[in-house]
Amino acid sequence: MTSGKRVLVTGGAGFLGSHLCERLLAQGHDVLCVDNFFSSTRRNVEHLIDDRRFELMRHDVTFPLYVEVDEIYNLACPASPVHYQFDPVQTTKTSVIGAINMLGLAKRVKAKILQSSTSEVYGDPNCHPQPESYWGNVNPIGFRSCYDEGKRCAETLFFDYRRQHNLAIKVVRIFNTYGPRMHPHDGRVVSNFIVQALKGEDITIYGDGSQTRSFCYADDLVEAMMRMMATPDDVTGPVNIGNPGEFTIRQLAELVIELTGTTSRLICQKLPSDDPKQRRPDISLARELLDWQPKVQLREGLVQTIAYFDKLLAEGETFQAKRVGVL
Ligand code: NAD
Ligand code: UDP
Repeated sequence: MTSGKRVLVTGGAGFLGSHLCERLLAQGHDVLCVDNFFSSTRRNVEHLIDDRRFELMRHDVTFPLYVEVDEIYNLACPASPVHYQFDPVQTTKTSVIGAINMLGLAKRVKAKILQSSTSEVYGDPNCHPQPESYWGNVNPIGFRSCYDEGKRCAETLFFDYRRQHNLAIKVVRIFNTYGPRMHPHDGRVVSNFIVQALKGEDITIYGDGSQTRSFCYADDLVEAMMRMMATPDDVTGPVNIGNPGEFTIRQLAELVIELTGTTSRLICQKLPSDDPKQRRPDISLARELLDWQPKVQLREGLVQTIAYFDKLLAEGETFQAKRVGVL
């Protein structure tokens, strides 16, 4: 017996999930980490395995799950464009059927449930910065749609379960988050630039690098998610979580070059379709509801992340994510 709660984290072996599991254990909770390792490896949670309050289960959330828990953080879903576009039908299934299964579980065991939604629900926004009240500008039939529309549908399901079954739901919309334990080959911009810089390879800017993103460090994000879970039942969100500092992709590349001291060159490649031109969260609601704001600025977070990848590359890990043949 422990005084903590029994907490299920789906996608718990992933980049953000592993940080969340770690923090929940540190707070004295029992953690059930469920993952099918589609875009992660056991390595992210190996250091937790010996903790008797931690349990790791290989399971695909598109299939029902019957467990007794008090809280559910639903993170299962590939998050990088390379991963989610590899098997787009499975991506939509993971978001939609996964949400139905986890909401069904929450209803049965009367658990609180938090959905990790995304700034992608705003698509290529024509409103800047993006507040939660903005409904988005999303292509329903493009290459990113499996992710964007899957996440939008999951939000719909969460709010319908709230209206229809009075479930205690929480929805956070996460903006680009980075940090240690990102997959080195998942194609996201921070991991790509750092790995390229550390290997002395060309740094690949897609388009002319004038598109913007706002980068939040993983620790800040996890803190906000846990604060959101702890809010009273009438607080549902959606709430934007991110760091409002906005940078062009070229600025990010230049900062990575400076911090790594690499001799890598910048090269421009084709911009992927539907790539949002600008993105920055309006976090007024998070400040008000959660008394939260990010603490780690980009330069500081990049230093930590570079140190992680430096060690990883020195160890010579190959990182074959089992079902992602493109890696
Ligand atoms: P990640 O790919 O590292 O983690 C996702 C995890 O989900 C992986 O461990 C993967 O194996 C697992 N997974 C995928 N499909 C599954 C399935 N069907 N059943 C069980 N497990 C499955 O990505 P992340 O960055 O840690 O993202 C975590 C969550 O946060 C995702 O839901 C993502 O959409 C959301 N999010 C992340 C960001 C970000 O910038 N990191 C931004 C917006 C939203
Ligand atoms: N990007 C880039 N070079 C890369 C990877 C990504 O210029 O090697 C760009 C990408 O086109 C996008 C931005 O960086 O404009 C963020 O991409 P990421 O895949 O990290 O996240 P998302 O597009 O989902 O915000």
